Amino acid sequence: MGSKFRLMKTLLRATCLLLISLSSASASEGHEHGSERLPDVHLKATQENQKTSAPNPFLSLLNSIALLRSGVSPKGGTSQSNTVPDVIWTPPANVEWIQYDFNASGDQFCDAVDGFCAGWLETASQECKDNYRFGDSVQDTQTRLEYEGCVYDMVFRPYLSMAVERETSELTDSQKENAARLKALGWNQPSGQPVAFRVASDIPEPIVEASKEGMFAAIDLLGNYGPLRVYLVGNDLGVAEELANDFCDFNYPPDQKAYCLADQGEAIREMAYIYPGGNGFQQSSWTLDAPVQSFVHNPYADENNQHSTDEGELISDRRVNAHEYFHVYQGAHNVYRGADDSAFGWATTRWVEEGAAIYFEQLISERSNWQTSASIDARVWQDLNAMKAFTTRFPGVSMRDVDTGAQTERLFSYCGELCIGALQYEFGHIAFQYLAVKTSEDTVLFDYWHEYTELGWANAFEKVFDRSIADFYTEFEAFLLLSVEEQLDALGIDP
Ligand SMILES: [Zn+2]
Repeated sequence: MGSKFRLMKTLLRATCLLLISLSSASASEGHEHGSERLPDVHLKATQENQKTSAPNPFLSLLNSIALLRSGVSPKGGTSQSNTVPDVIWTPPANVEWIQYDFNASGDQFCDAVDGFCAGWLETASQECKDNYRFGDSVQDTQTRLEYEGCVYDMVFRPYLSMAVERETSELTDSQKENAARLKALGWNQPSGQPVAFRVASDIPEPIVEASKEGMFAAIDLLGNYGPLRVYLVGNDLGVAEELANDFCDFNYPPDQKAYCLADQGEAIREMAYIYPGGNGFQQSSWTLDAPVQSFVHNPYADENNQHSTDEGELISDRRVNAHEYFHVYQGAHNVYRGADDSAFGWATTRWVEEGAAIYFEQLISERSNWQTSASIDARVWQDLNAMKAFTTRFPGVSMRDVDTGAQTERLFSYCGELCIGALQYEFGHIAFQYLAVKTSEDTVLFDYWHEYTELGWANAFEKVFDRSIADFYTEFEAFLLLSVEEQLDALGIDP
């Protein structure tokens, strides 16, 4: 069984890279084929502790898409210090500094005369030392994807952020046309058409019921957006093939079906036979004559690729479906689509996208009595602790570092994708908990997204939360300096 599991993990790694290359090919024509998808990672409660050491490949995929899409030199900007008060930073003993000058191009990543910003801890594995590489070449980038966990064998000097203007870009004519068309088609209005499910026949009924329960609860709370088709993928490859076909017929015009079958279709097949499950992706197919939304979910399966109907798994299925429906809801409120990659303020920043969805997942789980408030609060406590560990390991790195493609690429060149994933999930989640305490649940769930439609994510943030994005980062970084007990208290949670 051990060797089978190892094989599965090896396959998973190889596939991850394959998916990345497929996605990079499609990224350049992203707006042409007119769909956007949001891969997601949802680990069951018992797995969440391992999240930082065993990230889900979908997370890699998401990050890689954005990185490859940006096409901006990682060292094209100037650096700036975070506004958090400087804490004296001293490296642990016996660090073996890596002879790579991060500052060579003139862009300062860290405050070190020789530009050696990262080093191996005394305990670092030889495998990491032999394989992990900094640098801009394709091979270097591959090693950082393939050996991403090696950053946990390293120490990093405090990161100096890239300075960016956070001015929302003027709308282009094409964005205005897209918005007028989508609004005329009712894209951003609740629809009378009920959600449709396509369910693999090999999924046990309790899992199907739990998944539908999650979806319906989310629709009840947020409104019915769509037309939406939900695909529940099991572990049988033949059945998954039928779902892939249905998905591609629903989301693509006929002349792009082959492309879809090789891309998202392949992802659906791999969900059935490689990935352990508990994950999904959402897609907004907004350039179709009749635009639609979809969500694909693969319930958790064990290392023998068997589904489980334990209550813990069913809770996870409810939560995943509610979470993904929140992405459908976000997608419906996004009408000024097709902004240039260099534009700011329209394509939602990662931590807002994921943070709001996790906040919603927590809220609906409590309101629907899927989980006790103690286990819901435990997730907050866990994420606060994860952020503490993160800040110790990657000092100076913050949510302010992933607003633009250029920033994200620069951060990736520094500490790899694990850094980026934590900022969108754990940091994003806590940021929305914090914003909800400062305003209200309804502000976060409804008012913000209502304003987002016309203003874009950044200007809507400023209007609804009454602070600029940059000011919020400074405020939130001060919150991060508090002890976990003080943070829980500030979030209204009994420590
Ligand atoms: Zn998500």
